[in-house]
Amino acid sequence: MPQGGVKCATITLMKNFFMQPINGKILLGIGLSVVSLSSFGYIFYTYIHTINKLDVLSTDLVNTKNEYQAKIYENQTDIKKMSDEISSIVNTLTDEQKKSLLIGDQLGAIGQQVGAIGGTVGNLEKLSKTDPELLKKYSKVYFLNEHYVPLSLSNIDSKYLIIKNTPLQIHSSVAPYLQRLLDDSTSSGLSPEIISAFRSFGSQALLKSSYKFTYGAGTANAFSAEQGYSEHQLGTTVDFATPTTGTGFSGFDKTPEYTWLTNNAYKYGFIISYPENNSYYKYEPWHWRFVGVALATTLHNRNEYFYNMDQREIDTYLANIFD
Ligand SMILES: [Zn+2]
Repeated sequence: MPQGGVKCATITLMKNFFMQPINGKILLGIGLSVVSLSSFGYIFYTYIHTINKLDVLSTDLVNTKNEYQAKIYENQTDIKKMSDEISSIVNTLTDEQKKSLLIGDQLGAIGQQVGAIGGTVGNLEKLSKTDPELLKKYSKVYFLNEHYVPLSLSNIDSKYLIIKNTPLQIHSSVAPYLQRLLDDSTSSGLSPEIISAFRSFGSQALLKSSYKFTYGAGTANAFSAEQGYSEHQLGTTVDFATPTTGTGFSGFDKTPEYTWLTNNAYKYGFIISYPENNSYYKYEPWHWRFVGVALATTLHNRNEYFYNMDQREIDTYLANIFD
């Protein structure tokens, strides 16, 4: 029963009590006492019950809280364990990556060594097949053997010959380099021509004797043969001319063809054997020898002269002379 209701009932009963006769009053008093006691008992019971319920709830709450704390702790432990495991996996991965990089480096180094060995073998094989005379320096005391002939000779494109009906030959391996040089020079608007190329010992001897006949032995020795002849006998050397110089060599170094050769011949593997002011032989601006693109480029870049270079250094270019 709500408290307001109890209060109202009590007032009504009290009013009735004072208005009742004595016996009735006694009875009413007893009734009221019973009702009051019952009300009190009910309220007390409700209070105790509520307290108990709160107790139970509070215990539940504490238990739940402990449970969750335990779970949180458990999860934290799990997370820590997982994090440790991930760190360990990451470390292992890093180690493996390092190992694979190391193996990669080692494999690369081995590959390079194998390549170098292969290259060396290839170079040795090439060297064994390359004529060692092709890069020799010739002098007044060191001549090419009179029986020497190039392995193979090819005719020079007749359109580049100053005397069209007299074929001239060049070493077959040098021929494509010379052809490109002549074609490119012509494309630049120039008119390069060849006046002399391969000369055998016999033809050289003949030429020299004709010079001797014309100019006398002393003069012939000075400008015709000696050093230059060996280079012509090799088959790797040509003498250039132009329509303006004709069959005489004089003035070749004043032509644009000569300037072009000075700036470009090295790209095709050709060098001037006897430049101006050299201490080996007279100046021959028309006389160009094939020594390979690599060596010609080195000489061009260093502004060095073939006959001043050490023979041992020159020989390192022999294997790749036709590369
Ligand atoms: Zn010459």
